[in-house]
Amino acid sequence: SLPVLAVVGRPNVGKSTLVNRILGRREAVVQDVPGVTRDRVAYDANWNGRRFTLVDTGGWEPDAQGRAAAIANQARYAMSVADAVLLVVDARVGITDTDAAVARVLQRGGKPVVVAANKVDDTKGEADVAELWRLGLGEPWPVSALHGRGSGDLLDKVLEVL
Ligand code: GDP
Ligand code: MG
Repeated sequence: SLPVLAVVGRPNVGKSTLVNRILGRREAVVQDVPGVTRDRVAYDANWNGRRFTLVDTGGWEPDAQGRAAAIANQARYAMSVADAVLLVVDARVGITDTDAAVARVLQRGGKPVVVAANKVDDTKGEADVAELWRLGLGEPWPVSALHGRGSGDLLDKVLEVL
């Protein structure tokens, strides 16, 4: 079976937008309203001729009440099914408590993790990236899922560990 890459992160950081960027088509539902539950989550992806299964764990996004607990479950779920994890963080917001909680789960999981510093739409946004080293998961990779900026380098890095 194909290697599995799970995309994790709190609602609204751009997971589904990044999934669509990787797929090269619009399939994952992008929502301006965080927390909307979606049921379609696994996709057959291909990057530079390598096939893998891409899981958008945003499909398990809980409602606002249950979010804190379920977000950790999302990360644990990703650890159980994935060969590698892509943690998406909103670089413009920085590290939230939820991001830090997810990062702790991923640190203990023993699977390779690549950090996507999303919403770096221009060179000005690069200033926000270095702070994300504090997640403790290695180098944060600047990307704009919306515009495609940096997505090639990010995916090359992901395929190195997948
Ligand atoms: P998810 O909840 O993590 O799956 O996030 P979505 O993919 O649904 O995106 C949430 C919002 O962030 C949408 O309005 C997206 O258009 C926006 N967004 C996603 N990626 C980027 C990006 O790279 N730059 C900017 N400016 N907005 C983004
Ligand atoms: Mg989503």
